[in-house]
Amino acid sequence: MDLIVPPLLILATFGIIFAVGVGLIYIVLLIYDREARKCPKCHRRGAGSVTHTDEIHSRTFIDQAMMSSMARTDKKWVKPLRITETIYEDQFECKYCHHTWSKTVTERQHNPS
Ligand SMILES: [Zn+2]
Repeated sequence: MDLIVPPLLILATFGIIFAVGVGLIYIVLLIYDREARKCPKCHRRGAGSVTHTDEIHSRTFIDQAMMSSMARTDKKWVKPLRITETIYEDQFECKYCHHTWSKTVTERQHNPS
């Protein structure tokens, strides 16, 4: 019996696995997004849309926790990791009851120093 699988079949199998994986991630993100945009007044999911975003605060600091863990493990000294933390406030408006609310989002960006 010949057990050699054509390379195209292997590619197709991986392609399907990849497509299913991406699809699942997309569905999870979609559910998460709808949950995140749930109206606090009428409790409908995915009701809020961002009307505008304000930058509240931005700061840059050195990751101290990482530096102390490096000191404990006595590893080779590496350059300290600089982190820029920006806090945004998103203004939402419900498309059903027009209730408005805000949510703060913290974004962290690692900068090579
Ligand atoms: Zn609402």
